[in-house]
This record gives sequence, structure tokens and C-alpha cells, in this order.
Amino acid sequence: MVAGGKTATIGLLEKLVAFDTTSRNPNMALIRFIEDYLAGHGIVATVQANADGTKANLIATIGPDVPGGVVLSGHTDVVPVDGQTWASDPFSLTERDGKLYGRGSADMKGFIAAALAHVPLFVAAKLTTPIHLAFSYDEEVGCLGVQEMLKFLKPHVPLPRVVVVGEPTRMQVANAHKGQHVFRTHIKGREAHSSRPEDGVNAVAVAAELISFIMEMAEGERLHGPQDPAFDTPYTSFNVGPISGGSIFNIVPGECTFDWEFRPLAETDSEALMQRYQTHLDTVINPRLAARHAGCGAHNERWAYLPPLKATPGSDAEALVLALAEKNTTSVVAFGTEGGHFQSIDFPAVVCGPGDIAQAHKPDEFIEIEQLAQCDRFMRRLAERLSA
Ligand SMILES: [Zn+2]
Repeated sequence: MVAGGKTATIGLLEKLVAFDTTSRNPNMALIRFIEDYLAGHGIVATVQANADGTKANLIATIGPDVPGGVVLSGHTDVVPVDGQTWASDPFSLTERDGKLYGRGSADMKGFIAAALAHVPLFVAAKLTTPIHLAFSYDEEVGCLGVQEMLKFLKPHVPLPRVVVVGEPTRMQVANAHKGQHVFRTHIKGREAHSSRPEDGVNAVAVAAELISFIMEMAEGERLHGPQDPAFDTPYTSFNVGPISGGSIFNIVPGECTFDWEFRPLAETDSEALMQRYQTHLDTVINPRLAARHAGCGAHNERWAYLPPLKATPGSDAEALVLALAEKNTTSVVAFGTEGGHFQSIDFPAVVCGPGDIAQAHKPDEFIEIEQLAQCDRFMRRLAERLSA
């Protein structure tokens, strides 16, 4: 619990954190809470539910239905607390030493709470350009909700000046991040006794070969690909993650699966990289495996994709958010956000929100009260800027 005398933002954050919106759970109760809250201030929200009605995005407009508005964007889901040790209940906002502890406090219910807390001000401000609220589901599991939201925004929301993606940046203005493509490669080989390897097709050995190919692509990008010194890792990076295949040392493995990803700079030709891998499968690996035994082969599937957010230095979008955050310079973030998705429908986007990404996804996640106060000032300046 948080002691008395709390701001409206903290009061709302306490309520939002209490909804366990871990991505695997429905977020509908939280969305209905926001919908009711907005209705209490005369705002009719659009609730855009998923196919089975368990999860939803919420979109609302305050002010006139004209272009040039500001979208305040946040995701409502949080990452699991499974296996983590917390000093207090992760779903009960708890204050200690100027910090508010709770799952999602930094990533990113703090920003949503600040936006909601200023709805009465936005309503009273006689806005000449609108403020839109755009809250999504399932960001943490591949930005699924926002991709549905874009289908609504494009025809219904007149082109805004900027989307402020309120991921935790300590209220710094971040204008770029890398993208992310995540894949699963499955190899179907053929089992045989290891004393007769010629009877089988070793799926793990093929995986090793493909992983070497991926690591060569990684080296190529590191040494010869586009470079952007704004990032700590200034090139497009690759990773091979979990791998599984085989059952015992004396059986030629018949199956192997591994997951891998790359994180492209905006300047990188991602399609060309994906095509290179696919061409290698089609022209080198699969003809060889099929010749060894019918039905053997490797296939690759992309299961998550996040577009990069491309910097637009000097743009109206960046200038406005710098002014609202009272900052002079932009920076970049190492993590992905929904910003690239907004940019993909030509909505300019910038990342700026309270709290620190270092606390995100960790046990004892917290947000400093001072960070929320900075975000409150941002919201007040926004209301001033957009009213007559
Ligand atoms: Zn987040």
C-alpha cells in the first residue's frame, strides 16, 4: 500500500498494478476499468477485442477530430513474476524510500497512470488539437495487440503529429531503436543406429551447419554491414537461442529445432538477410537432404517481428516531445517498442516515458516517485501546448 497524500497518478497506478495483466492472462478487467474511468469524464472509448474476447486494445480521443494530435501509447500487459523473489506482493503497489514497487510500475503502467490522471485536465483544457489514448495488449509476447490496433487507427484517427510511446526512458527522448526478427528452424532428418550413420540423416549436424551459416551472416554484418554509432552495439546483431534435438548418443538424431533472431538497424536490408538464409536452405541444404532420403529437409519460419524505429532528426515530432520533456537532445534505446509499428503506418513516433528499463522484467520492479512527477509535468505541458 501507498501512504496517504498521494497524487492522482500514484492512485491510478496502484489500481492498474492490482490487475494481474501478465501477458498469458486476459487484460479485459483492466480495459473495462479504464473505459469506465474515461466514461466518468465524458470520453467514449473504443474497445477493440481479440478473437476470443479475452483481451483488448483501448483507443480514445479527447478534443476535436482533426489531424496533428498527440497519441499517448502504452501496453497494458506485463511480464511474468514466475520464479522471482519479491520483497512485497508484485500486484500491490508498495512504497519504500521514494520508490513504488510493483510489476509493471516502470514497464509501463506508470505512463498509463500519468496519462489517465490528466484526463480531467485534458477535458477542461479546450484542446484545439486532440490527445489520443492508445493502450494495447500482448506487447511483451510479440506486439500482437498493436498490430490489430493499427488496422483501426489508420482509417479512424486523423494523422497525428506524434505518437509518444511511454516505455521507460527516464523521460529522455529516444528517437530510434533496432528492429527484431525471430525465427524457428526445424530440421527433419532420419533416425538410424549410430553404427550405421549412412542409413540416417543427422538433423543435429545439419542444425550445426545452419548455425554456422547464421554466425557467418552475423560476422558479415558486424564487419561490413551498416553501422550506427548511436547504439552500443552499432551493427545488426544475431543470436541463436534454444536448440533441441536427438535422444541418445548412439542414435542418429531424426529431428532438431532451434530459435534464432537478428536485430536490424533501420538502414539494414532485413529482407535481403532473410532471403540469403532461405536461398541457402533452398539451393544447398534441402536438395542434399532430399537426395539422402525422401521427406528430409529444413524449413524456417518467422514467428515474431518488430520493425525498427527510425530516427527523424529535426522533425516536428521530435521537436515537440523534446519541448514537452524539457530536454535538448535525443538518444536511442537498446530495446524494441511499438514505435516501429506506428511508424510503419506513417504515424511519427518517439519513445519517452517514466522509470528505468533497468528495472523492467526484474523482481522488485519499481518506479521512482520523482519519475512520475516528471511525467506529470510532461502531461501538464502537453495540455497547455494543445489548447488555445
Ligand atoms: Zn514495455
